Amino acid sequence: KAPVITVDGPGGAGKGTITQMLARTLGWHLLDSGALYRLTALAATRQGVSLDDDHGLVTVAAFLDVAFEPGEEGEPVRVLLEGEDVTGEIRTETCGNNASLVAVKQPVRDALLQRQRDFCKAPGLVADGRDMGTVVFPEAPCKIFLTASAEERARRRFDQLKGSGVDVNMQDLLDEIRARDERDMNRSAAPLKPADDAQVIDSTGLSIQEVFDRCMAAAGQ
Ligand code: C5P
Repeated sequence: KAPVITVDGPGGAGKGTITQMLARTLGWHLLDSGALYRLTALAATRQGVSLDDDHGLVTVAAFLDVAFEPGEEGEPVRVLLEGEDVTGEIRTETCGNNASLVAVKQPVRDALLQRQRDFCKAPGLVADGRDMGTVVFPEAPCKIFLTASAEERARRRFDQLKGSGVDVNMQDLLDEIRARDERDMNRSAAPLKPADDAQVIDSTGLSIQEVFDRCMAAAGQ
């Protein structure tokens, strides 16, 4: 089996940036598991499947026609749903919230499990999510739990949205982040928590490079 580095943690802790850097540096594959939950939510909405319809959601998840294409240097991975580029669309707050609603459902998680494991191929995999170290790759030799204070995560999101011209309110963002954390941590299906053998890295006040260096050290690279 190919080696896996799992990177779990709450939204906005910097997992996306760090896992892309790790995968690029090591030349390994990358799994953005959050994208699969976002795509399930998006595909369900498009197909008119209600987010309360567990049966319908499982079918959507099981038959999800997705592809991840490497982006240009410094660009995010392109995400295709039935051949259509939805890279921007799955990143909206609405899609993120809908993703966290479908992610509380154990049958949906089960439907996506094997698809996630299939990403594990030579020479190795960097897996980004909430339950990569606890559920999907429990045997991974290196597990990282990347976190940051809610205030810091709200601030980063604020800067990111402002940079792209979106008008946002800091307090609203903080409230949303806290609500999402609450839902991710207190759900019964794969609650967000560090694996027993995970190394916890708090990125509050650290630069991207400092976080990256700590993750590489944690991975023994
Ligand atoms: O990481 P991202 O923000 O893209 O994830 C969107 C939502 O999908 C999260 O809020 C979480 O509820 C859910 N998720 C999950 N398990 C994962 C990845 C994401 O439950 N492995």
